[in-house]
Amino acid sequence: MRKYLLVILLLTSSMSGCFSDVLNDDEKRGIPGGLALACLQDDKFEKMEIHFLYENGYDPIAKELVKTRIQDVCDKPGGIKITSVETDFSIDSVWSSDDVRDARWKHGGNAMGSDTLHWYFLFPAGTYTDESVLGVAVDASTIAIFKDSVDEAEGFFGRPSSEEVERAVTVHEAGHLLGLVNLVYQSPIPHEDPNHPGHSNNEDSVMYWAIESNDVGNFISGDLPDQFDNDDKSDLAGMASGELECSDQLWS
Ligand SMILES: [Zn+2]
Repeated sequence: MRKYLLVILLLTSSMSGCFSDVLNDDEKRGIPGGLALACLQDDKFEKMEIHFLYENGYDPIAKELVKTRIQDVCDKPGGIKITSVETDFSIDSVWSSDDVRDARWKHGGNAMGSDTLHWYFLFPAGTYTDESVLGVAVDASTIAIFKDSVDEAEGFFGRPSSEEVERAVTVHEAGHLLGLVNLVYQSPIPHEDPNHPGHSNNEDSVMYWAIESNDVGNFISGDLPDQFDNDDKSDLAGMASGELECSDQLWS
């Protein structure tokens, strides 16, 4: 058994990481970024399907946006399909990372069973164990967005709005599945925030560290970003081309 630790060092107790300690008994589930090349390249997976599993009343609003963002950077000549399934998760209070993983593998299928790559985005009722966390990436194919906390994160006078926050957090967690920032590679560009490992130091990037926090409105001036910046895209292009070496990949 290998123990993967993705630990975020925190400046304050209210800021908590949106990806958490990952303890895997099953190697195939991997770590966030472990299926980055599977998305960025088309060698094994020509198609992709993104499954949105949501509790009744928790419909995701950023499905097309996520598809667009992933399409921009990934090589999927067979296309990217969106699937939405209302799901009774039977948990509506507090979620741990293990709960998210268990729910995904209980309600979802394999990530890599065919020439289609499958990622799962869960939208449960309730909050993460740390209520300030809006989203988590828990293994190579799984994220969760906590809409109850996203709603709470709406700023004064609706700026940012809960919709803006949800769009940003959803793309942000997808970015972790793509390995951003420095999760499974080392960028030649110094854009990882040393105080927030795995995150960007650019507040115009959707990978900016504060995006995951319910204090997001206090840390970003202006509009919330919902796209990768040029440094993020440069990293993804380097990974895709092979210029940047990637670790912890579940295939290749
Ligand atoms: Zn994050």
